[in-house]
Amino acid sequence: MDASIMSGKDLSSGAVSAVRCIANPVRLARLVMEKTPHCLLTGLGAGEFAAAMGVPAVPGEQLVTERRRKHLEREKQKEAQNPDQPKDLGTVGAVALDSGGDVAYATSTGGIVNKMVGRVGDTPCVGSGGYADNAIGAVSTTGHGESILKVNLARLALFHVERGKTLDEAAAVSLGYMKSKLQGLGGVILLNTAGDWAAQWTSESMAWAAAKDGKLHVGVNLGDTRVTDLP
Ligand code: ASP
Repeated sequence: MDASIMSGKDLSSGAVSAVRCIANPVRLARLVMEKTPHCLLTGLGAGEFAAAMGVPAVPGEQLVTERRRKHLEREKQKEAQNPDQPKDLGTVGAVALDSGGDVAYATSTGGIVNKMVGRVGDTPCVGSGGYADNAIGAVSTTGHGESILKVNLARLALFHVERGKTLDEAAAVSLGYMKSKLQGLGGVILLNTAGDWAAQWTSESMAWAAAKDGKLHVGVNLGDTRVTDLP
């Protein structure tokens, strides 16, 4: 698994890549941010750091549920039929604005189907898997990691916000650029310090949710947004 996290307050960030048997890789990324002078720990070193921090190792099989095993089988079949479409293996991303006006992002992933051993995607790379800066906003990304890395998708989206685009425009332009340059598909969630947000994707679908002003907005496919009161 790979994960990264960033605070828009001071650009502090932490990330881990190629970690195994950790229940919450984002928490480990946060420890890298808060307890080390480094940005990214990988593989064995990340595992040793987890142990030193008292993060329990969870046997791999405990992290695999029957539902996710079936999901993986379906994704492998889809991969065989359509290798160009990104396959969702459980990437989870979040962006948040707190009452003090600070933004942050966190993203974690199990990677992509049929990856080479040693392959690391965009998720642990700040600027690609996400970015947060109180002066602009926060972004978390998902999709074809090799394309996301090549265009620095998260920072690219915020660059367009800095240049005056709305969040929806910035999401569309940056995802459109990745698609036209590389045929790369993906999705982004974006947030600014005014509390506006956007969720857009060029992949088949993207499960997303947003909570604001007592309302919960959720969607998976284009045009199917539902809004309910937050409990
Ligand atoms: N971006 C992730 C990766 O390439 C995969 C995903 O978002 O589904 O590792």
